[in-house]
Amino acid sequence: MTLACYAASEENSIGREYQEPGPLHRNQFQRDRDRVVHSSAFRRLEYKTQVFVNHVGDMFRTRLTHSIEVAQIGRTISRALQLNEDLTEAVCLAHDLGHTPFGHAGQDELNRCMKEFGGFEHNLQSLRVVDVLEEKYAEFSGLNLMYETREGILKHCSRAKAKELGKIGQRFLDRLQPGLEAQVVDIADQIAYNNHDVDDGLRAGLITFVQLESCELFSKEQALVRKKWPALSTKRMSHEIIRRMINTLVSDLIANSQANIKSLNPSTIHDVRNAGELMIGLSENVAAQNQELKRFLNKHLYQHEKVEKMSEEAKQVIRYLFDGFMSTLELLPEEVQKNIGMQEAEQGKQGKARVIADYIAGMTDRFAFAEFERIRQ
Ligand code: MG
Repeated sequence: MTLACYAASEENSIGREYQEPGPLHRNQFQRDRDRVVHSSAFRRLEYKTQVFVNHVGDMFRTRLTHSIEVAQIGRTISRALQLNEDLTEAVCLAHDLGHTPFGHAGQDELNRCMKEFGGFEHNLQSLRVVDVLEEKYAEFSGLNLMYETREGILKHCSRAKAKELGKIGQRFLDRLQPGLEAQVVDIADQIAYNNHDVDDGLRAGLITFVQLESCELFSKEQALVRKKWPALSTKRMSHEIIRRMINTLVSDLIANSQANIKSLNPSTIHDVRNAGELMIGLSENVAAQNQELKRFLNKHLYQHEKVEKMSEEAKQVIRYLFDGFMSTLELLPEEVQKNIGMQEAEQGKQGKARVIADYIAGMTDRFAFAEFERIRQ
């Protein structure tokens, strides 16, 4: 398929930090996707919470299935807009690699633990995983991904952090936009989680069809489905509604983005980065409906007392692990202790805390629980 002139490509890429011979049977962005798939952090996504703690039920989304759903939506949009589908897929699969165990509760608590030591942010951590933490290759640390893949992973960043990051952080200082593939991933992520959280929330019985009728996006599709199939089972009903909501959002996004691209008329990726505004986005009306659904989930699902209870437990586990490891290094595997020795010599207590944060962030939910039980003895 021909790429649009403003898509990211091997030809206009800024390339890899460490020079390597090109792949034989794939393009450079397929190679990136494959490196993500083969990473240890990617496999661990299977046992990390999206909203529901992993062991609560086998039916719910995990970070892994979430990432695959994001990739499905992202690729559809990219292909329709003649963008680089392989790059989009690579970023989608990598976008949550830095997530801690226990979803947002885990990330918030680890951030609190790291307050004096530079904080913790899952988005920056995803970049850190692919740039530094993966130990796979003889010649370099990390996965040595293409600049555009890393640009897509680093969705947001404070100016202070951007300065520390060098070339990859520069766009935040220059106030440039990311490439269109990165813009696609950002919204594909939102479309995926809003919709699958409705599905998981309904299945868990934490939210109901009646409650969801307050959201226009849901109620419109529900009316259509109920009219056509009045006797449909709950299971089929919810899926028929959700697939239509995804379709409405994706179709609107493609049409609206096409219109934006047409009016801003970029002829290269350089024009996209310098456009001063994002080109990929929902129309005003559908964006408002999407926001309404997001607010609904925030209020009724993410802050549901059952979810909050899990979150509180999760926070305790993270805090206990961090404090325990900080005060008693012997609780950590030898390799981690060795790394702490090196980082502490270079950066003092901050270096030590960072290694511990990396170690905790890399844990799966169940490993974090097991470690908590072990060191509590
Ligand atoms: Mg995500």
